Amino acid sequence: MDQPRPDFEPRFEPVSDTRLRALSDELSQPHHHLELIREPVELARLSVDFHTYSPVLTAKLRGCEAQLAVKARAVEQVMAVAGACARHGVPLTVRGAGTGNYGQCVPLAGGVVLDTSPLQQLRGVDPSNGLCTAEPGCPLADLDRKLASHGRSLRMVPSTYRTATLGGFIAGGAGGIGSLRWGFLRDPGHLMGLEVVTVERQPRRLQLDAPASHALNHAYGSNGIITAVRLSTTESIAWQELVVGFDDWQAALEVARGLPGTAMLLNALCLVEATIAARLPWPAGCSPPAPGEHRIMLLAAPDSLPLLPHWVQRQGGTVIWQAAQGRSRSLPLRELTWNHTTLHWRGSSPHWTYLQMLMPSPEEPLLSAVNQRWGNDVLWHLEGVRQQGAPRLAALPLMRWRGQEDLDALIAQCRDLGAIIFNPHVITVEDGGLGVIDADQVAAKAAFDPDGLLNPGKLGGWFSHSRG
Ligand code: FAD
Repeated sequence: MDQPRPDFEPRFEPVSDTRLRALSDELSQPHHHLELIREPVELARLSVDFHTYSPVLTAKLRGCEAQLAVKARAVEQVMAVAGACARHGVPLTVRGAGTGNYGQCVPLAGGVVLDTSPLQQLRGVDPSNGLCTAEPGCPLADLDRKLASHGRSLRMVPSTYRTATLGGFIAGGAGGIGSLRWGFLRDPGHLMGLEVVTVERQPRRLQLDAPASHALNHAYGSNGIITAVRLSTTESIAWQELVVGFDDWQAALEVARGLPGTAMLLNALCLVEATIAARLPWPAGCSPPAPGEHRIMLLAAPDSLPLLPHWVQRQGGTVIWQAAQGRSRSLPLRELTWNHTTLHWRGSSPHWTYLQMLMPSPEEPLLSAVNQRWGNDVLWHLEGVRQQGAPRLAALPLMRWRGQEDLDALIAQCRDLGAIIFNPHVITVEDGGLGVIDADQVAAKAAFDPDGLLNPGKLGGWFSHSRG
């Protein structure tokens, strides 16, 4: 049963030198073959992610740093680190590629950062159903390439596909390219099982089925260390990248709403208003937008192409550019969408930040109310998604940073107008989601991390649990 979240701000003392030395001595024993990292520059690098898109988190997470880092190349090494941390009472934070946006892998209480990115084995693809089992450090793009040789593909990937790891996506991600077709990672049917190492004096290596795995999906590595993921896949499709231009915002919005409801198969749809479009690094051969031109980026199946250009033209759009995904030498269109839109914008306007929300349907009342109040201080970037089976629009609007008060006011306004906010300016799992404690996540932490050592402070519900 979901409960209201507690107010929570983390404040931790670093682990004492004595305790840290005892832990290091144990992990340095030659039979572990562990690479221990103590250099301050490396420790700082392994303690950050992309939370710097948020001025709020940048201030709050300043100084949160690992005191020791370890790279795991085998599950036995993960078990050695987990056991030693439990025996010495040292906090442990798991890390993949460090591309998260909420400071998910920033060690709030110091201690050890465990990098699982070297664990990269594809353990198998079941030919009877396409389910794949792979280790958490697999870079998503590599894993997808390996799946392609089985005629399969990942259903959904973040726009950080080329760098992010599988474990980081399951524990920290939400959706992305493919969400238009497949919804979000936490929707039942994507994650089919996990192998998990517990943080206990004698760590256990457990095989969880799909229902048991759900509590670790998007729990920011706070309730178990993932050492393998069992995932549904889909048939491989040679997606076509298309850029469509519009003179009129309303026409572009109608296409973003209407196209996913046709029988043309799409894997992604991203709409950016003209001011944003003017600053994106469009692929070679794709003309830059004319002043005032709004743009939709699409990933469409080849069999939609005989109709798609005519369909969008009837709605007031013009296909400006098209290429087979992976064939253009420029950035893939994928890397202009989701939080890559934010990344490119912040490249030239670092004082801007962003928000994430599921838009109400219809979207117009919210869009016009926000435009009226904030003018050019909020710019629209919409993404097509599927929410409980129905096509919807999500938004990652860009916002000129004028302080916490304005951010809170924008959030409150959008909420009042029916948006569901996924706030990227907060620390806990709960605050970044629906704001309620998920009792299953807390129960999984009690079972797999009974001393609460996995990034203490990340799972807000653990504090009420351990106090109560
Ligand atoms: P990390 O950042 O290293 O970790 C993420 C979380 O997973 C942390 O809480 C960490 O503790 C936990 N974790 C990592 N490995 C393990 C493990 N073995 N066991 C348990 N927990 C573990 N996200 C999206 O969902 N969709 C997007 O489209 C998207 N676009 C992005 C675009 C940009 C430009 C940026 C900067 C970020 C974007 N993100 C997006 C966020 C992020 O890139 C993804 O969620 C990515 O999948 C995280 O993978 P990672 O390997 O970098 O994980």
